[in-house]
Amino acid sequence: MKENSLSIEKKSRYLPFGDQQDSLFYGKDILSVKQFNRDDLEYIFGVAHEMREMVQRVGSFDLLKGKILANLFYEPSTRTSSSFTSAMERLGGSLIPINEVHYSSVAEGESLPDTIRTLECYADVIVLRHPEVGASALAAKYAKKPIINAGDGIGEHPTQALLDAFTIYEELGTLDGLTVTLLGDLKYGRTVHSLARLLSLYKVKINYVSPEVLRIPSEILEEIAEKNITQAEFNTLEPAIKETDVLYVTRVQKERFEDLDQYEQVKSAYVITADTLIRAKKKMIIMHPLPRVGEISMEVDNDPRAAYFRQMEYGLYVRMALLAMVLGKS
Ligand code: ASP
Repeated sequence: MKENSLSIEKKSRYLPFGDQQDSLFYGKDILSVKQFNRDDLEYIFGVAHEMREMVQRVGSFDLLKGKILANLFYEPSTRTSSSFTSAMERLGGSLIPINEVHYSSVAEGESLPDTIRTLECYADVIVLRHPEVGASALAAKYAKKPIINAGDGIGEHPTQALLDAFTIYEELGTLDGLTVTLLGDLKYGRTVHSLARLLSLYKVKINYVSPEVLRIPSEILEEIAEKNITQAEFNTLEPAIKETDVLYVTRVQKERFEDLDQYEQVKSAYVITADTLIRAKKKMIIMHPLPRVGEISMEVDNDPRAAYFRQMEYGLYVRMALLAMVLGKS
């Protein structure tokens, strides 16, 4: 429970079907993967797995009937926003979608804290994507209702990392003992910032493959080294491909570059083709948070190792689990 959410707690005592206030994530914000330990992940994967079975069996059910989600997106999104929408609707809840902040009071200069305090009058949980690092933490400071970080600039994307880890777990059965190779824009890619941290809860080896100017930030390398995780950095995929169990490909984040000439120089640094896969393990999986803009050739899509479309579906189950958990229904 958030300290400042006394009024919600008090109110729910009078509801005929109150929320489970003793549930692990009830009323909690999801701001960074740093807040999770292995037990939390096991729990989230368990709930997500049950969500998967329920969706496959009945499609939708009324776990969150009467609850309302506000989707507040200050940056473009296809998968995150529509998977949260689908997750809420499959759980019987409903939605306030604000995907075009240009048409909301934000365009008139409303501050983030004020927009958040407005939306929480109408919604039970807020999913926020914002271009500034730390925006979700700021929102959470002002909100009584749970805030879920759906990407804060080049900072973190915790729900993506959770769904990435769940994908690996469902596809390969474990995370321990794996070699995960993160490739592409490791400087600006928030998904890899979150995923590398989350992976460090397991016994993994992490390879980083990037152009020199897009190396993983040194503070992340240091954080992970403190957990005794073996890490290696490369400029090309060649030395890492043979040992890789999970190849996690990312897009070069054009919108984060100050110098577009620099973007032009690195934008096509890596392209995964059928040829690349000849040297890879037969059981390797290829992941990508998407959108892709040329890093994985379409000829790879039919290879059974291409997991990036399945990964999107796993995202639905993880987001259903997270909504149910923060709303005290799991
Ligand atoms: N969709 C992911 C994100 O929001 C990855 C990307 O945009 O490249 O970070």
